[in-house]
Amino acid sequence: MDETKTKASLSLGGRERGERGSLLHALLERLYPPRCLLCGAPGQAGLDLCAGCLADLPRARHACPNCAAPVPAEGVVCGRCLRRPPRFDAALAAFRYDEPLVGLVTGLKFHARLAHGRLLGALLAEAVRAADVPIPDCILPVPLHPQRLRERGFNQALEIARPLARAFDRPLILHEVRRSRPTRPQMALDARARRGNVRGAFAIRPGFAPASVALVDDVMTTGSTLDELARVFRRAGVEYVSVWVAARA
Ligand SMILES: [Zn+2]
Ligand SMILES: [Zn+2]
Repeated sequence: MDETKTKASLSLGGRERGERGSLLHALLERLYPPRCLLCGAPGQAGLDLCAGCLADLPRARHACPNCAAPVPAEGVVCGRCLRRPPRFDAALAAFRYDEPLVGLVTGLKFHARLAHGRLLGALLAEAVRAADVPIPDCILPVPLHPQRLRERGFNQALEIARPLARAFDRPLILHEVRRSRPTRPQMALDARARRGNVRGAFAIRPGFAPASVALVDDVMTTGSTLDELARVFRRAGVEYVSVWVAARA
């Protein structure tokens, strides 16, 4: 009961903010017309990206429906998923993790270019819309450990998730799931070590179990962090877990 009430008031709050937000947005757009973050040319369709740079972004021709890895043909499940299926139900990546995505993501993460997060979120929303996939009840930006959050000052996954929450009118999960222990950066580890590194790293508030959830992150590499989150949600009784990432390595 309480859950339903919280959810209803959350999404109502979102809509109210949305109306005021769109007026403000229109005003800001008039004052500061969108500029391409990659080349400085005028942006198009409200994006900080020009048509040329948008067309040049690296997209996978075909992607595994389970984990978004590139595959040779549409609908083919990749070898890794056949051997060891992920615990999430579906995954979608807007782009391949090549330039200029590497620059956009590292600019966001390590140089606090929050405009990159807005752009990546808007592009990911476009990709989700184009793929015509189910939109889950709520959206979880992959949480950072509080210590990492203090060091960085923001969570890059949240910056990407905000435009998605607005686009699909879904609440963001901000307090119900947390990192219960710090983990080493996944970058330096192989696939097996990555799984061990994140095992048991997340805690979910007891009783929090929406029917479906979308996990949002900047880049998916082996997917072990997202897989561990999916495991925790499944154990809590969540029926459908999808993964939306800006880029797939
Ligand atoms: Zn451009
Ligand atoms: Zn796969």
